Amino acid sequence: MTWLAGRQVQVQHLNALATDIGRRSSETRHEVIRALSEVQNTRGSASASAPITTASCSESALARMRNVVATKPMLKGMGYLADGALQCTTMTNLTQRQPLGEPERIDSTGMKSWSNVSLPSLPGTTFNLNAQGSYVVFIAPSVVLDILPKTSPVSFAQISFPSESVIRSHGVFEPAWARRFQQGETHFVDKDILVVAVRTEKESDVIFASMPVTWWQTLSAGPARSAISLSFLIGALLALLSWIAIRRYFSLSTQIKIALKRDEFYLLYQPVMDLRTLRCVGAEALIRWKRRDGKPIGPSEFIPVAETSNLIVDITQKVIELVTRDATLLIKNHPELHIAINVSAADLNSPETPARLEGMLAAMDALPENIVIEATERGFMTPEQATDVLLTVRAQGFKVAIDDFGTGNSSLSYLATYKLDFLKIDRMFVQSIATTEPTRQVTMHIIEMAHSLNLQMIAEGVETVEQRDILRAAGVQFAQGWVFGKPMSIQAFAAFVAANPGISPAPV
Ligand code: C2E
Ligand code: CA
Ligand code: CA
Repeated sequence: MTWLAGRQVQVQHLNALATDIGRRSSETRHEVIRALSEVQNTRGSASASAPITTASCSESALARMRNVVATKPMLKGMGYLADGALQCTTMTNLTQRQPLGEPERIDSTGMKSWSNVSLPSLPGTTFNLNAQGSYVVFIAPSVVLDILPKTSPVSFAQISFPSESVIRSHGVFEPAWARRFQQGETHFVDKDILVVAVRTEKESDVIFASMPVTWWQTLSAGPARSAISLSFLIGALLALLSWIAIRRYFSLSTQIKIALKRDEFYLLYQPVMDLRTLRCVGAEALIRWKRRDGKPIGPSEFIPVAETSNLIVDITQKVIELVTRDATLLIKNHPELHIAINVSAADLNSPETPARLEGMLAAMDALPENIVIEATERGFMTPEQATDVLLTVRAQGFKVAIDDFGTGNSSLSYLATYKLDFLKIDRMFVQSIATTEPTRQVTMHIIEMAHSLNLQMIAEGVETVEQRDILRAAGVQFAQGWVFGKPMSIQAFAAFVAANPGISPAPV
């Protein structure tokens, strides 16, 4: 066992453990982000029409939150937040609303966090909380570190920079270590403790793993050698098992990186129609991924992973390249058409985005009006830099649409702030329009509000002639959906444009 005594091996061991803890931390973060986004996107029709605080704590709302949590092993539960206080949770009945106080942290995406929160009806249990908008996710404080054997001599701390706040920890952590890391040291000995620091996927967070130098030395000498080696082996085995479990998830982000290099992405174009003339006025570019083995992976699966693993800006760049390649000739022949591209919050936070879009125009020899930028409400909500990028893009002359309107945390203030061009009415609302569901009223309100703000509307996911006609009669100007055309290749779209002369405008 003398090989174990080597410092290098000790550093590698700590490194592997810290990396594993970092992965678990990222996996937890991904589950939190997915849970918050799923619960917003599946808000049912009943809750959309009733006053939000009561509806969001109704039995059906709680059942929906439970469903979202059920598929996420790192999460304990969810809850609904209003006026800074918990109104209800999926884990226990609250006898009264529970104020949370100021959050301990708010990250760059606006995610708020509190640690060690206890609920009166669950004494002795504490939770770490993450909230975005009105929903809160509950996590057990031990969740990331629970792969460690209880007797492990290794200490861990997850530190968020630059504030140096402790996200979670087990054992010792000295604030001086954070400073040494910032000076560039990724492993060092401090007062006979070996410390190794590993950055997590979320660049601002670092995992510190540490253990006494002497403990390691006992491995090769003391009588307890075999027992200690056994506990080390069990620890390593547990680490390996958790690594296998999360590999599947992480492999998707790795696969995206490889797919970008191998050009496995392509675009389909869904026609956007003028409802008054039934003439095609443009298309939305929708990304597709076909792996080498022929297996397609839908954007709903890989875009969220790309968004949380810093790959989305590369995907948007790919989309820009593909639109340039596909649509230059079509726009030249039909300068009245527009192509809409989807951008994510990270694109709106990247100062390079305006230049990239400008480059696209130059390469296509197109006008800025030929391009519509579709941004979701989440993208609008990230502050300062997003504002700058959006205002720049608007000043460049690009058209801007707010996508999935009404599915996130709607704040009407940005509709006025950014002087947007289009509001896209989400498919969920369009589906309600030919029914007697209460959501129908909400849809009608959205339409009225857009009219009063002088915003043009694009209805999404129009599947029936009846929906189309109701939207048209309500004064919605544009629409897309299967009733007009499914997403199609650029060649099929060019043929669609040629075969679609429209009808003369009729009074509505
Ligand atoms: P989205 O931007 O809301 O796109 C509309 C989605 O609705 C598309 O799904 C489209 O195929 C689908 N759809 C269109 N008409 C109908 C209809 O009549 N009925 C039904 N049931 N569905 C319809 P898709 O292509 O799977 O895209 C899903 C989401 O993935 C998009 O939602 C968008 O958020 C994201 N996405 C797609 N392409 C890109 C991209 O290039 N970049 C980024 N950042 N996100 C993208
Ligand atoms: Ca879109
Ligand atoms: Ca949409």
